[in-house]
Amino acid sequence: MPTRDPPDAAPTRAELTELLERERQARREAEAERARLYEVLMQAPAFISLVHARQQAEALASELKNSEERYRAFVSKSTEGIFRFVAAPPVPTTLPEDEQIALMFQGGYIAECNDAMARMYGFGSAEELKGARLDALLVREDPRNTEYLRAFIQSGYRIDGAESQEVAQDGTPRVFLNNLMGIVQGGHLQGAWGTQRDVTEQRHAEEELKRAESHSRFLSEASAVLASSLDYEATLRNVARLAVPTLADWCLVDLMQDDGSFKRVEAVCAASEDAELAQQVQRAGVIPKNSPQLISVPLVVRGRALGVLSFFTFHSGRRYTAAERTLLEELARRAALSVENARLYREAQEAVRLRDEFLSIASHELKTPLTPLSLKLQMLVREVQRQPDSPFRRAVEGYIAVASRQVKKLSELMSDLLDVARIAGGRFRLEFEEVELGALAREVVARYEPEAARAGSALVLEGTAKHVAGQWDRLRLEQVITNLVDNAIKYGAGKPIHVSLEADAGRACLRVRDEGIGIGPESLSRIFERFERAVSDRHYGGLGLGLHITRTIVEAMGGSIQVESTPGQGATFTVVLPRTPAAARPTSPSV
Ligand code: ADP
Repeated sequence: MPTRDPPDAAPTRAELTELLERERQARREAEAERARLYEVLMQAPAFISLVHARQQAEALASELKNSEERYRAFVSKSTEGIFRFVAAPPVPTTLPEDEQIALMFQGGYIAECNDAMARMYGFGSAEELKGARLDALLVREDPRNTEYLRAFIQSGYRIDGAESQEVAQDGTPRVFLNNLMGIVQGGHLQGAWGTQRDVTEQRHAEEELKRAESHSRFLSEASAVLASSLDYEATLRNVARLAVPTLADWCLVDLMQDDGSFKRVEAVCAASEDAELAQQVQRAGVIPKNSPQLISVPLVVRGRALGVLSFFTFHSGRRYTAAERTLLEELARRAALSVENARLYREAQEAVRLRDEFLSIASHELKTPLTPLSLKLQMLVREVQRQPDSPFRRAVEGYIAVASRQVKKLSELMSDLLDVARIAGGRFRLEFEEVELGALAREVVARYEPEAARAGSALVLEGTAKHVAGQWDRLRLEQVITNLVDNAIKYGAGKPIHVSLEADAGRACLRVRDEGIGIGPESLSRIFERFERAVSDRHYGGLGLGLHITRTIVEAMGGSIQVESTPGQGATFTVVLPRTPAAARPTSPSV
């Protein structure tokens, strides 16, 4: 708590006067200060606004400084190229577009740029690029650049996302994407501000992709051509035509002959004015002179040279890239394979032709002695019968019976061979007549009964008593039933064999079923082909021709033949035939 000093004694008069005087003085001074303050306060608004303006100017200056610094930082740090281009002298905007473009190329230069821009041209810093002339950067001869500048003019000296084709310091081509804003004053283009981005790699990748796509398209087209025919000379000619002009101005195809010499099979050229020369080149087998680029790729298969494909550039000035060389090598590889396939096919065809010719001649020649042989056997039978008391009669009759069967077997085999040769040679003909199938089946079965009996099989007839008439080739139909019954006895393992006949108004259906060795599922479709067998030669004799002939006959009569089998349980062959040739149509044996 504040305390006061106790009054010791009352002040003297002199002391009081002095005190008052001091008081008065202090009051006067306070008054003067107040008046002065009043003066100041009277002038305060002008003063305050002055201060304010000054503060504002200072703030603005510092803001400006910051902004300038921010701008500089932005420009120097930007990954985009930023530049100012100056047209010297300025280009009158009233001139025709081409003249404006020419003037830009003549006097244009880079006045300012950032480091990023300089690096796009392979320079270390902006200073090195500054001052560079426009025509040292932008390829003047490239029509795409003329179009770029034309579009800039046409769109009022302002363009976004335009591509330019330029060259870097080391001469490598670059592609940039530009935004350009022209500075136009007094009817003249003074220059432009621009930004640019390097899209060279991107464009390369796109072009690479396009090239790869076109290469694979080319290869698949070539493969289609190569697979289209087995005439390899014609095929190679087509491939050569495919390669020109896509991959070459010229393409020559030389094939190696059996004697090791080369035969020129094609000379294709892109330009029509070369046609005459191409003909000479084709005839003379020489290579056109002055061809700047030549690629020769050998046609090689399994280490054997078949020929050479040669590709040239002549007028186009094209230079082959590594990818194109690989493509041409791949083309040659495929072409060589196709030549080889065609050659093998030709050889196989020739071998088949020779075999058929041989079979045809051999079966004729071998069959010829069989007729007199069986006649002699018949005479022998009659001779023996004339001597009933001869002690040799029994034995001789037995030998004659065996010999006759063998001669019959032999002549059947010969007939099969002859038939196959006829089928292969397109000389297989049918003669239609009215045939009664029930009677025919009974006849064949009766003829085979002794043979079936020898094998231990019973031949069972079902439904053959019916009268089933149709228009068929009698002898060939007999051959069909014979083949099926013969096989059923041969592969029937001594079990019963069922021959059945069904019919409706349009079709007849003959089935031969045995309970013998059967056929594995993998062989079912094969056994109808020529020389195909599903049993070993050691256990069962045969040529593998019977079913092939049977199917040919059945199909020629408009019918079909099917087989069902379970190995070890037997096989069922079903023949369905239209009763008249007109009703012939593919059908299933459901009658
Ligand atoms: P081949 O009997 O002379 O061999 P085929 O053309 O008549 O010739 O018959 C071809 C093959 O079909 C025979 O080798 C045999 O494997 C098989 N095959 C034919 N018929 C039967 C059958 N009924 N049972 C089992 N296999 C058969």
